[in-house]
This record gives sequence, structure tokens and C-alpha cells, in this order.
Amino acid sequence: MHPKEYRSYARGMALVDTAPTAVPLGGPELPQERRLVTELPGPRSAELLARKAEAVPAGVGHTVPIAAVAAGGGVVVDADGNSLIDLGSGIAVTTVGNAHPKIAAAVAAQAAQFTHTCFMISPYESYVAVAEALNRVTPGDFAKKSALFNSGAEAVENAIKIARKHTGRQAVVAFDHGYHGRTNLTMALTAKSMPYKSGFGPFAPEVYRAPMSYPFRDGLSGADAAARAILQLEKQIGADNLAAIIIEPIQGEGGFIVPAEGFLPALQEWSRANGVVFIADEVQTGFARTGHMFASEIFGIEPDLITTAKGIAGGLPLAAVTGRAEIMDASHAGGLGGTYGGNPIACAAALAAIDVFENDGVIERAREIGDLLVSRLTAMQSSDPRVGDVRGHGAMVAAEFVDPETKAPDAALTAAVAKAAIAQGVIVLTCGTYGNVIRFLPPLSIGDDLLNEGLDIVQAALASA
Ligand SMILES: *Cc1c(COP(=O)(O)O)cnc(C)c1O
Repeated sequence: MHPKEYRSYARGMALVDTAPTAVPLGGPELPQERRLVTELPGPRSAELLARKAEAVPAGVGHTVPIAAVAAGGGVVVDADGNSLIDLGSGIAVTTVGNAHPKIAAAVAAQAAQFTHTCFMISPYESYVAVAEALNRVTPGDFAKKSALFNSGAEAVENAIKIARKHTGRQAVVAFDHGYHGRTNLTMALTAKSMPYKSGFGPFAPEVYRAPMSYPFRDGLSGADAAARAILQLEKQIGADNLAAIIIEPIQGEGGFIVPAEGFLPALQEWSRANGVVFIADEVQTGFARTGHMFASEIFGIEPDLITTAKGIAGGLPLAAVTGRAEIMDASHAGGLGGTYGGNPIACAAALAAIDVFENDGVIERAREIGDLLVSRLTAMQSSDPRVGDVRGHGAMVAAEFVDPETKAPDAALTAAVAKAAIAQGVIVLTCGTYGNVIRFLPPLSIGDDLLNEGLDIVQAALASA
């Protein structure tokens, strides 16, 4: 359809009528600049946000007060023509860059071929190819299988189903500060009450919580933190009752907490010795984000099951459980699946994204970005003691803001810095159990200039907060 025809076809869709006459195409061709032509939100964005308030429930919040119309490289452009530096990637999703040309082409081609048959009705090749690719690129030199789903939470739910079926046991252990999603079981697995759980119970039973390794706050070695966790779950649950432990190798929402060296290997070893399925939730850390294809590689672990989503398909909704073939095969036929799981358009996008991850130097770029982030943030830390800790791997780095005397979390300072940065056209996200962490998750397609400019603005926001 010619764009003009599309416009008349789409008449009645108010966004088309109110959009500026020249909405830019997204992708890397977008001018790579921070450009503010209005305050945020500008008038067109304000109009959309007013409609949102009328049409969408308050529970679905937003961080940046804009109406996005295009994105690519390292920027997000809004309906008023503002161009914001993107240091969030839509929560670690657009790792290869927004509207990546290879992904846009793969999506368009698949959409023209067929959009859905349901893999459980009429299977198709791209689903199988994604499973083969995941089995190949995930850590662990053993026979693996993969099943595809729609969201990270759905992948986590299915990993737990599979682990329970395989072991014949019910209990599941998650960790302090852990985040695993917003469905009922994954709310139970998630640690933080506000905003994820409060008022939404009752939660799924047989979910237990163990203490995490949080070097900045507990000062424990990895071995000691693991011994503490293992003692607790042996005494409170009993290994014989435990189907699985699920852990993010580097915690995302919980505050980009990097466990002390040795913590994860000790947990894995104990799980193996006790027939407990070790699940790494790599929904946020997966696919080059940490400067490795998977964060498990950093810690030398080979999880029995890995859950993935977010960065897997360049922005299309797709998720997976990948793991040891004998565990994955525990379920009876028909026990796993879903109407949309492994949708062909999402699979086409994932194959294009995995091609980019493997062949376009993305992992190296994540490491370069990580070096830049860490050197800028540690420089800020050495001149401002309110920056208590800088941590992370690759393009997944955070700063934790504290009272310099007591190390008490400073959520108010964190919120003020983030708000000021956003007002200046830099998209930053906060996280952490105590709300005192700013996390940096830029798309790996961002240039050094933009990244430095974004960090200049964060630094200025901190100085004046
Ligand atoms: C985002 C996230 C999830 C949930 O994924 P959704 O796609 O939002 O359901 C689960 N685990 C981790 C570690 C995440 O970061």
C-alpha cells in the first residue's frame, strides 16, 4: 500500500491525523542527536498522554512523558520532534538497536508470507531454527532443547513447570531482590512488594526466598553467602522437597546486583548434588548485554535451564526456556505451549537478531560501552561520595546512590537525578529494592558521543541535585 493510500485507509486513527507531516523512519538512519524543541511533554505528546489517562488504566505507568514515533541508533524521537538519548533500550530489549534494518526486513518478509498458524497446530521452520540456535548459543556442552513463549514471565512459569515435572517435587527457591515477572507465580517469585505485588495476592504456594549475595551491602565472600543461603534452604525446605532454584546471574530490577565470585558456582554445585534444577533467569542479562552472549559465562556456570526474552528478537515479543534435553522432555505431549508461543514473525526477528549478535561485533561493542560507562561512573564516584557503588558487566552497569556517612539508600536523590536527566532529554531508568539505583542499558548501536553526552547530563543532574 502506498503511504498516501495508507493515510486515507487509516483516517479515523487520530494519531495519523495529528502526527507531524514528516514522521521520520526509525533505525540507524535517524539523526543521532539530542534535540529538545519543546519542554517534555510537548503539546502533541501531552495530547496523547491525556488520551492515555482516559483510555488506559493508571496501573500501566510510564517513565518518560513523550509519545514515541521513531527510534534507532541511540535515540528515541517523539511526536513533537524532540530527540532523546536512549540509555534504557526499552528495558534491555533493543540491544541490537531499535528498528534494526535486518530485523525490520525479516519481519516484513515473514508478515507477507504468513502471520500465524499456531506451532502446536501446523509447525513451521523458523520456530525450529530459533530452538536450534538457542541450543547452540546457550552455555553448556550437552544435549539441549528449547520451547518458545511470549514473555519473560511466561518463560519463567514454564521453566518452573518443567522443573517440577522432572523432579516430582514442588518447592521453588528465589532470592532476595529477585525479579521474575508480573503473573501470579512470577509475582510470588519476585521479592519486591511495591509496585509489583502489593494488593495482588494471594500468591502461588511453595515459593521460598533465600538471601542473595550483595557484596556492597553484606560484605560476604561468595562462598560464605552461598553457605548462608544453602543452610537456610536445607533447614527451612529440605533438599528432597526442592524442585528448582531460580536466580538472575546479575539481578536486573533488584538493582543490578552482581553476586560475589564463587556464589553462583557453589549454588549450582549444591543443586547438582541434590537433584535440584538450577534455573538461570537471563531474561535481562541475555544476548550480548553483559559483554558475553549470556551472563552465566561470566561466572563459569552451566545452568540446567535458562529463561530468555527481552533482547532475543530486537523488540518483537518472544521468550524461551532452553535446557538439558532430559529435563526439557519431562513433560507429556501437550503440556507445554500456547496459542502464540514462537509466533513466526517474532521467530523471524529472533533469527535476524541472533545473526546480528553472532556476526556484527555486538558483544565487543557491549564491552566497549561497558568500559566507557564504568570509567565515567567511577570518575563521578571519586568526586561525589553519594555514588556509593558502581557495578555491572558490559552494557549493563548501574550506580547506587547512598548517604555518604551511613550507606543508607537515597531513593529521593536517585529519583531527582533520573527526573532531571529525562527532562533534559536523556532516558534513564531506576531500579533496586530501595529505589536508589540508576541503571544504564543503552542500545549497543549507540555512538560514544551520544553516550558521553547522556552521561554529562546525568553528571550535571547529580551535581545540582
Ligand atoms: C523483565 C524480566 C522478566 C519478565 O519479563 P516480561 O517479558 O516482562 O514478562 C523476568 N525476569 C527478569 C530477570 C526480567 O528482567
